[in-house]
Amino acid sequence: DANRPVLPAEAEIDLAAIRGNVASLRALAPSAEVMAVVKADAYGHGLVPSAQAARAGGATWLGVAQLAEGLRLRASGDTGRLLSWLHVPGDDFTAAVAADIDLSANAPWALDEIAAAARSTGRTARVHLKIDTGLSRGGATADEWTELVDHALRLQAEGVLDLVGIWSHLAWADDPRHPTTDRQAAAFEAALAVAHDRGARPQVRHLANSAAALTRPDLHYDLVRPGLAVYGLSPVPDVGPPADFGLRPAMTLRARLSLVKRVPAGSGVAYGHTYVTERDTTLALVPLGYGDGIPRAAGNVGPLQVAGRRHVIAGRVSMDQVVVDLDDRPDVAELAAGDPVVVFGAGCDGEPTAQDWAEAIDTICYEIVTRIGSRVPRTYV
Ligand code: PLP
Repeated sequence: DANRPVLPAEAEIDLAAIRGNVASLRALAPSAEVMAVVKADAYGHGLVPSAQAARAGGATWLGVAQLAEGLRLRASGDTGRLLSWLHVPGDDFTAAVAADIDLSANAPWALDEIAAAARSTGRTARVHLKIDTGLSRGGATADEWTELVDHALRLQAEGVLDLVGIWSHLAWADDPRHPTTDRQAAAFEAALAVAHDRGARPQVRHLANSAAALTRPDLHYDLVRPGLAVYGLSPVPDVGPPADFGLRPAMTLRARLSLVKRVPAGSGVAYGHTYVTERDTTLALVPLGYGDGIPRAAGNVGPLQVAGRRHVIAGRVSMDQVVVDLDDRPDVAELAAGDPVVVFGAGCDGEPTAQDWAEAIDTICYEIVTRIGSRVPRTYV
């Protein structure tokens, strides 16, 4: 688009990829509904446009951690089923119930605050009780479970809430052979049986994140809760790249060179001179740094594609910029400020992927896309 402004850097989001990824997930989990997890600004892809694309791809549910994220979705006009799950006492449950947001509860205080919000709004709140099956993070322990279910059922009898969901979260699904997943599945079954005995009849039982949605059809239950896969990244890179599951990475982080210059051999590059040129060479400046979410750990290891060729960051990552040694590649005389840089993308044209970045700095690709900062404009194609 010739009218698009020139940006120093942008995270280009392919909304058709998000739509297609949700459609692929629906095909992989045909007996379940899909909840697209859009917390943390849709893993850095932009909350509202990503949520709209996920809905268009067939996500009948959206999932967020914080209530504020759910309220932002409602303010954007989203009216579908939407679950929020990470709450603290004093959260605005009244606004949440008024906005028709499904709410997770881990503990009696949450049920009581949700019930009070329902009474004050004159509405019935929809609640999903969370059982901790082995992640030791959110959720009631097995010891607390019966009492939590009974507590919810008492409030349901009073008409202030509907116990519509029972759910849990997996610790080891990214390793499909890890025995913890089967142990958690058994604990989930036990919790469902207890709840059933007490009289609960939830509409949706849900356990599967992206990894289980892709590799454990036996754990799909009524609803799968993928996040990473919605954005086209593989949570199980050892099993297969995104394309093996019909997924396409949605984010391409682009920049333009802001300077190209010759320097002599022996030039120390960037803070602390952790890179020193071995010969007379050409350096280029890329206007993205740790202030934009480029991990500082990527100094001397982070890959970039500059005008079609792969390079590695030279020296430390600064707040606003990184340096690349163009190493006198054959076309070096033609390179100039303004030339295109791809930090990561789908990998179709030789550019690094978010997974390549994760491996270069020993993290997970979730962190690579999610930490891209607010200074980097999201553009949508
Ligand atoms: N469900 C819960 C409770 C989560 O916290 C998350 C994200 O961490 C997900 C589902 C989605 O996980 P993933 O991105 O691995 O699919």
